[in-house]
Amino acid sequence: MKAEIISIGTEILLGQILNTNQQWLSQKLAGIGIGVYFHSTIGDNPERLANAIKTGLERSDIVITTGGLGPTVDDITLETIAGALSLGLRLGKRQAHIPEGAKVIENRLGTAPGFIVDKGGKLLIALPGPPRELNPMFERTVAPLLRKRFGSEGILKIRTIRMTGLGEEAVDRKVKDLLESPPPLTVGIYAKPALVELKIMAKAKNDKQAKTLIDRADAKITARLGKYIFGRDSETLEGAVGSGLLLSRRTLAVAESCTGGLIASRITDVPGSSKYFRLGIIAYSNDAKIKLLGVRPGTLDKFGAVSRQTAMEMAENVRTAAGSDIGLSVTGIAGPSGATKGKPVGLVYIAFAGEKGCYCSEFRFRGEREVVKFKTSQAALDLLRVSL
Ligand code: ATP
Ligand code: MG
Repeated sequence: MKAEIISIGTEILLGQILNTNQQWLSQKLAGIGIGVYFHSTIGDNPERLANAIKTGLERSDIVITTGGLGPTVDDITLETIAGALSLGLRLGKRQAHIPEGAKVIENRLGTAPGFIVDKGGKLLIALPGPPRELNPMFERTVAPLLRKRFGSEGILKIRTIRMTGLGEEAVDRKVKDLLESPPPLTVGIYAKPALVELKIMAKAKNDKQAKTLIDRADAKITARLGKYIFGRDSETLEGAVGSGLLLSRRTLAVAESCTGGLIASRITDVPGSSKYFRLGIIAYSNDAKIKLLGVRPGTLDKFGAVSRQTAMEMAENVRTAAGSDIGLSVTGIAGPSGATKGKPVGLVYIAFAGEKGCYCSEFRFRGEREVVKFKTSQAALDLLRVSL
C-alpha cells in the first residue's frame, strides 16, 4: 500500500509557513501501517497541481492533499482536482461544493469540507490546510476509513527512548546490535545537543503484538543505558525532575547566571510546578551575585564569577533564601566572548546544595551561545533528576 502527500500552497514554498501537516500526516499514516513513499509541495498553480495529482494517482494507492480548499482566489484545490479527474462539481451542505461522486469529510471547525474520491480503487483525499481543521477530520473520518480498508496489513508502532548525559557515539556502541535489528523491528538513533533518542519501531498485525516487540527491545536498552534515560515519547527532562521532586516531597530553588533564567523557565513549563518550585534568581552581574545571593566579594575576587566556589555559594545561599530542600546553581561562559586565561568559552560550573551538603561539577560544553545555554540547562536538570 503506497501513500503520498501533496502539500498545496505558495506560502510553504516561500518558507513562510512550516509544513507541519506533512509531518503530522506521515506519522499518523505510519501508525496505521500505511507506507508513505512521496512528499511533494506545489504552489497555488492549477497546471502543476493537476500534474502532481495525476502522477500521484499513477504511482500511489492513496494520495492526500492538504490546503487550498478555502473560498479565496488562491484556493484552487477543489477545481483542479475536479478538472484533473474530469468530474463535475455538486453543491453539498452549507453551500459548499465537492466533486461529483466524492464522499464528504465534515469540517466542524472551518468552512471548507474535505472530500474523498475513489478513482478505480485508488483514493484521493483532500483536506484543508489549517492543522486545527485537518487533524480532527483525519482522526474522525479518514483514519477509520483507511484502517477498515487497508487495516489487514497491520500497524507500525513507535516508541522513543530519550536520554542525556551520554554522547551519540557512546550510545551507539552500547546498542550496536539493536541498531541492526532484523525486521519487523527497527531501532534508529537520533542526536540533538545534549539529547540522544533511540526510536524503536515495530511492524505487527496489531497493537498488542507491536507492543510486545517494543517492550522487549526497550528492556534491553534500559538494562544497558537506564541511568541516562529520563523519559519516553513526549516525556521531558523537566517533567522527570518535577515527578522526582513531587515523589520525594522536596522543594527547589535555582540561582542562574549564564542560562539567564532558562532553567527556571523549563521547570515552570511543567503544570503543577508551583508544588515544588520556590524561587529562581538570575544574578548576572557580580553585584547582583553579592547583593541578591550573598556571594562573598572575596570569593569573586579570588576565584572569579565562573568558579566552583562561586557556584557553591550561589546554590547554598539560594537554598537558604528560599527555605527550600534543594538549591541549584549554574555559572559559566556562554560565549562567544568572555573567555579568559584558563577559562574557555563553554566552561560551566553546576552546584547542588541539599540536606547532605553541597557539591559542584565542572563541564566543558561546545557550541554556539544558545547551544551552551541549552546544554547547561540540560546538565543541571539531569543532575537534579539523578539526585532525586
Ligand atoms: P482556509 O479555508 O483556511 O483558507 P485552506 O484549505 O484553503 O483553508 P490554505 O489556504 O492552503 O488552506 O492554508 C490556510 C492556512 O493553513 C495557512 O495560512 C497555514 O496557516 C495553514 N496551513 C496550510 N498548509 C499547511 C501545512 N502544510 N502545514 C501547516 N499549516 C498549514
Ligand atoms: Mg485558503
